[in-house]
Parts: sequence; structure tokens; C-alpha cells
Amino acid sequence: MKKVVIIGSGISGLTCAYKIRKKSKEINLPIEITLIEKEKRLGGVFLTEKINGFLIEGGPDCFESEKPHTFALAEELGIAERIIGGNEEAHLTYVFWNGKLWELPKGLLALAPTRISSLLFCPFLTWRGKLRAGLDLVIPPWEEEREDISLAEFYKRRFGKEIFDRIAEPLFGSIYACIPENISVKSCWPRALQWEKEYGSLIRSMLARRRMRKKMGDSGKKKLAVFMTFKEGMSELTKTLEKNLENVNFLTGRSVLNLKTNPGGRFTVILDDGKSVESDACILATAPSYATAEIVKSIDTGLADILMRIPYVSSATITLAYKKESFPHPLRGFGVLVTRSEKTQVKAISWSSTKFNQRAPEGYVLIRAFVGGAEDETMVYQKDDQLLKVVKEDLHKMMGINVEPILTKIYRWPSSMVQYTLGHEKKVKFIEERVKQYPGLYLIGNAYRGIGISDCINNATQTAEQVVEYFTK
Ligand SMILES: Cc1cc2nc3c(=O)[nH]c(=O)nc-3n(C[C@H](O)[C@H](O)[C@H](O)COP(=O)(O)OP(=O)(O)OC[C@H]3O[C@@H](n4cnc5c(N)ncnc54)[C@H](O)[C@@H]3O)c2cc1C
Repeated sequence: MKKVVIIGSGISGLTCAYKIRKKSKEINLPIEITLIEKEKRLGGVFLTEKINGFLIEGGPDCFESEKPHTFALAEELGIAERIIGGNEEAHLTYVFWNGKLWELPKGLLALAPTRISSLLFCPFLTWRGKLRAGLDLVIPPWEEEREDISLAEFYKRRFGKEIFDRIAEPLFGSIYACIPENISVKSCWPRALQWEKEYGSLIRSMLARRRMRKKMGDSGKKKLAVFMTFKEGMSELTKTLEKNLENVNFLTGRSVLNLKTNPGGRFTVILDDGKSVESDACILATAPSYATAEIVKSIDTGLADILMRIPYVSSATITLAYKKESFPHPLRGFGVLVTRSEKTQVKAISWSSTKFNQRAPEGYVLIRAFVGGAEDETMVYQKDDQLLKVVKEDLHKMMGINVEPILTKIYRWPSSMVQYTLGHEKKVKFIEERVKQYPGLYLIGNAYRGIGISDCINNATQTAEQVVEYFTK
């Protein structure tokens, strides 16, 4: 019987294990799967907790419907009906700029304005800024004479500096915890390059996609909300995967130290308790990439070196619950993005109990603040009291919150947010070429070709197919 070891039980490792098991059953190929995880619990950064009736997300709180892979996996697992969309009637986002909250123009599909009237009447952009954004319709696509271009340069070139500073920068900053000037558009937002090439303009491409979405609606197909989650939070997905992993040996609370390759293409996986596991294929679904580097350095220092050179930054999410009756803000919307001209430590706020239903009991509200990221990581490492004090001061400044929360919960993510900096694609190509020298070895996860949950699921699914193919060749 062929043996596979998967190291790491985040969404990447769990999906890969599930898909290998499913495929092996379909083609009647017995495969023994061992899943090794250094933590006692499975799920990686998926971390949903139910505390006093509040549903609290420590890690990811949603997936985007634009990419189909999460939805498809949920359908396969029989939990598609458990998916809920963001509240459409509260589909507003605010930007904190110049000491005030401003409503983002509606119809900013994938950051390109598609409702011209909404953009024209947007009170926090100047006429000059609005006209400059319109030049996207005539500016030619980026010619690839340069190897890479930053998110900031790409966006400013199409829409101008003002809309970048006031809208795009806070949005990119909050999604990727990044400084957009350092981040590769090729690796982080490849779809934008594709749309630009296809339509000559992002606005035109978004208008075409909006027409398509409308047609879908007219044809009776269900229109999906932009952001989605599960009724019981994101961990519903990892927990369901876990339940569906038939005949998998789980080794939890055990860290993999390193790896040995043996003649005949076998691997020996060395654990921290001195024991080892033999396998014919080994999938490193470990994150961050510096953890993967530690494991592979025993077989290839060059590979380890490149893995070490993928940078990470730290962040923290702070959830706060309040009594609704004394809460001074209506929370009509999904939350707030913060421009970097505002010197707050809080970089974004999710209005969790408005964004999705069933997050807070009747009579209470729930919000989640983000601190840290590439701009300034120091707050992440402050003591709880100090961190909460600063967060509360910022919430007062931004939303006028002057009441005490009835519950708070802090989750720290030290050096966990991967940064696809300029030249990332080159690093990934090097890694992929290098890994080919070890047939049966695979590296998956958010460090390489996509940070979002759907990207990780897609990457894990493709790898599972390759593993089965490797065994049947
Ligand atoms: C705070 C936060 C919020 C996010 N929000 C969103 C969001 O709303 N939507 C979205 O699409 N994406 C979001 N993301 C990104 C997305 O969640 C991640 O990219 C994705 O879940 C990563 O999954 P993974 O399986 O690749 O890695 P991980 O979930 O990090 O799993 C890797 C696993 O490897 C294990 N491991 C590491 N080293 C070893 C070792 N030596 N031995 C054994 N095990 C080891 C770790 O313990 C871990 O369990 C967010 C990420 C974070 C951190």
C-alpha cells in the first residue's frame, strides 16, 4: 500500500487529505494517509469560538464568492446550505479619513468604480480625483517590459493617486496587512492584469462582469453575496473536512523536525519525540514558509534559503462585544477601513454582528478590530491591557464608542501574514523547480500562489490529483 504523509492541518492540508482519500476510493487505489499537526487542534488559522452566545472568529471570517473553490468544496461536503452571505441590506463600507467616517462609493467592484453616479457624488473625492479615475478608460494596459510592478504603482497608474490613497490603499492594507508599494500585483492581484489586458480598462471589465452577474440573476441563477461564511463560522468547513477524513492517522501535538530522502524515492519524516514516519509521498502543507524551511533544510539548504526569504508580518484581531441599548453607533454596514494618513493603531474594523447574522445574541453587538500589519507591528506585542486601551481609544476616535465592552477577546498572529513582495513569482518558480528534484515531495499552502482560502483549496486540490497520478504512473 502506498503511504502519504501530510504535514500541517490548515485548510490546505485538510483539503489535500480529503481529496486524496476521495480520489483513491474512486479508483480503488489503497493509500495510507498520515496527517501530522504540531498543535493539539486541527484547522490552522481557522479559529471560531462560541463564547457566551457570541460567535467569534480569531482568524478568517469569510471567503469571497468570486472564486468558486470554497463553495464547490462545501457542496462536495454537503454543507453548501450552511453558507450565509453578508447582509445585502447593510452592504456599506466606510473609510476613516481626515478624522471622519466616509461612505465608500457603491459599486466599487474589485476596486474599480462601476457606478459612475455613485463615484461622481462621492463627497470625499475631489473633482480632479474623480476625473483622473475616469482616465482608466483610455490608459493602455501595462506592457510587460518590467519584471514586476507594485500594487500601488499599478493602481495609481490606472486611477490616480487620490483614489489610491483614500480607497485602494486602506483596502489592500487591510486584506493583505501590507504596504502596497512593496507588494507584487502579478502575485497578489493577477486577475487585475488579466482584466486590463482583456478589456483595456478595469472599469470596462467590471461593467462587463456586472452585466454578467445581472444576466445570471435574470436567468434565475442564485446571485451570490460577495463575502460568505458558514452559519457556525469558518471552522465549520475545517471541522466538516476533519469528520470526512476516513481512515486517516492523525498525529496531533507533534511537530515535524526534518525530513530525509531515501533510495527508491521514500521519505522519512522525523518528529520532535524522536519517532519517525516512512512515506512514499510527502506533502508539506506547513505554514509559514520559514517553518517549511526548517523541515527541508536537512535535504536542501538552497530550497530552505528561498523559503526563508518569503517575508511575513504580525497582526492581531481584537473582538469586542457590547450591549446594544447603550451602544452609540448604528453599525449600518460591514465596517471601516483606515487610510494611513490617520495615525491610528486600529487599521480596520469589521462590524461582525451586522456583516453576518447570528454573530451576537439578541440585544448585543459584536465588532472586530485589526492592529499590526506591515505598517507597524509593535502593537501586536503589547500586553493585553495596553493593547485594549489603545484599541478602545481608537474606537472612540473613529466611531464615538464611549461605553465599556462586556467581553473582549484577543488573538495574536505573530509573523503569520505572508507578504507577496516584488519578485515573489520568481521565488515561487525557483521553489517549484527545486522541489521537482524530489519526486513525491509537494509544497502547498498560502505562501506560494494565493493567500485567500479559495486559492489554498484550489492549490491543495490540484496537488491531491498530482499525488494520485504519481502513484498510478
Ligand atoms: C488573522 C487572519 C485573517 C484572515 N482572514 C481571511 C479571510 O477573511 N478570508 C480569506 O480568504 N483568507 C483570510 N486569511 C488567509 C487565509 O485564512 C490563509 O491564507 C489560509 O487559511 C492558510 O491556510 P494554510 O493551510 O495554508 O495554512 P495554516 O492555516 O497556517 O496551516 C498550517 C499548519 O501547519 C502547521 N505546522 C507548521 N509547522 C509545523 C511542523 N513543523 N510540524 C507540524 N505542523 C506544522 C501549523 O500548526 C498549522 O496548523 C486570513 C489569515 C489570517 C491569519
